Amino acid sequence: METVLDKLTQKNDKKLLLLVIDGIGGVPYRGKTELEAAYTPNMDRLAKSYITGVADPVAPGITPGSGPGHLALFGYDPLRYEIGRGILEALGVGLEVTPKDVAVRGNFATIDDNGIIIDRRAGRISTDLNRQLCTRIQQEIKTIDGVEIIVKPGKEHRFVLILRGDKLSDKVTETDPQKEGNPPLRCEPLVPEATHTAEVVNKFVNATRKLLNPPANFVLLRGFAKHPQLKSMQERFKLTPAGIATYPMYKGLARLVGMDILETGPELEDEIETLRKNWDNYDFFYFHIKRTDSLGEDGNWEAKVELIEKIDKLLPDILDLHPDVLVITGDHSTPAILKAHSWHPVPVLFVSPYVIPDKSEAFNERECMHGGLGRIRLLDLLPLMLAHGLKLKKYGA
Ligand code: ZN
Repeated sequence: METVLDKLTQKNDKKLLLLVIDGIGGVPYRGKTELEAAYTPNMDRLAKSYITGVADPVAPGITPGSGPGHLALFGYDPLRYEIGRGILEALGVGLEVTPKDVAVRGNFATIDDNGIIIDRRAGRISTDLNRQLCTRIQQEIKTIDGVEIIVKPGKEHRFVLILRGDKLSDKVTETDPQKEGNPPLRCEPLVPEATHTAEVVNKFVNATRKLLNPPANFVLLRGFAKHPQLKSMQERFKLTPAGIATYPMYKGLARLVGMDILETGPELEDEIETLRKNWDNYDFFYFHIKRTDSLGEDGNWEAKVELIEKIDKLLPDILDLHPDVLVITGDHSTPAILKAHSWHPVPVLFVSPYVIPDKSEAFNERECMHGGLGRIRLLDLLPLMLAHGLKLKKYGA
């Protein structure tokens, strides 16, 4: 499908806008989902005039992380392309990753005099201490055997390590035995080409030991991942894409598929202003709203409802720009009563002058289940946006 699609794309000046309300989908609480409970006259009006549907981010029953959900939204099959844990972690702390990188999740840990791990999280040291330790490591260790070393703190005991150099491989074993009472493991190559990488990793671990004291006197490394080297959206879809997001991980995901990341402030109003200012310069916009997901994970049903109402209230400012195709959906569901991502398909609102309107009365999960789009894969949404933007040529004679 992807190769067929890539061959059909053509450039024009139609503008596509993908509004991603992270974790938008819910399940009923006291009879209503968050979207059902929210007063959303603008989205409901669009649902009445255009079409709705539901989409499975990965496959029915599969609960996705935001990584796979976003890949699908961007038109990349999440079952074919995997973004490794280390890469996601690196994007999450705002590190730029390049095709020369192997990204790794790090933990500060405590080992005793016999070299046995007694606390894999070093007593959850403060983020402040973590920062100091990462700065010390970064100052002392800049390269190992020609490989550039980049260390950046995360929260508490977590940090990210990037190895940047030629011919690095992520086919190496993890050093974290995952269980206390064991010694840390040596990093071993899983393929002959990874020997050099494993050596660099072991040298890094040894070099940090001289710089660390209890409780954080050892580093454990896992989630080794190479840059996925995806073909860009420009190349595949002949789009000029831009991303507007406030959290590092989403900016990073957008960057992985070749989007320009637009500078924006932290509030929804700031993101809309950024969209407005850059409207003339791009033909595809990914607009990300993060907090719906965080509120869902907190189990804060009321606040999620309120935020959805605020998004709806600001929607006319976006509609004023007159996108040729507008899609409002999520990267996955985060029902407040589950306090977590879930497997439920996400509701989709699809706005284009070329739809045959369905009978949807409002934008919510229940209405969307009967919408004209039916139940599709989230991956199929971008081809539909391209088609409605008249950006796909005919297939076959
Ligand atoms: Zn998400």
